[in-house]
Amino acid sequence: MTATAYVGIGANLGDAPATVRAALAALAALPGCRLQQVSSLYRSAPVDASGPDFINAVVMLETTCSPPELLTTLQGVEQIFGRQRPYPNAPRTLDLDLLLHGQTLLQTPALTLPHPRLHLRAFVLQPLLELAPGLVAPGLGPLQPHLAGTADQRVQRLAD
Ligand code: AMP
Repeated sequence: MTATAYVGIGANLGDAPATVRAALAALAALPGCRLQQVSSLYRSAPVDASGPDFINAVVMLETTCSPPELLTTLQGVEQIFGRQRPYPNAPRTLDLDLLLHGQTLLQTPALTLPHPRLHLRAFVLQPLLELAPGLVAPGLGPLQPHLAGTADQRVQRLAD
């Protein structure tokens, strides 16, 4: 059985656009996943984090992985990109968030679905709605109306 999953990508250290593009290539090669759609890149001000602006994007995957399997796989990619966590919300090389996995609603210590902050963050909502303007998330409903609540967050879509 396959599910449609959305993954949020963020980077804010070094050459962040290059990191995001390399992450896209890594996601395209993941076992059990087929990369279906890639959003534009966005530049966003850090929220609950320090350091320079983030570069963000969202991808849509068709996957045969279960939600925990996919999270573990994504964390493996983060490790490959050398992410370290010297302190909470430290600037990061690459951050991958599992935003949605089909209609899964889940709350465990390791994984919450939908991602608990996806509807609160413009740097997630804008690329997500670029890919799927009518997206309805389990437990959250249509995502488009949540954009208004993020209007004060600085996010800029980058030219292709
Ligand atoms: P962060 O440092 O913000 O990337 O958070 C990573 C931590 O959040 C890890 O310990 C994950 O187990 C946990 N987590 C819970 N839900 C999710 C999710 N939907 N996507 C990614 N990480 C998650």
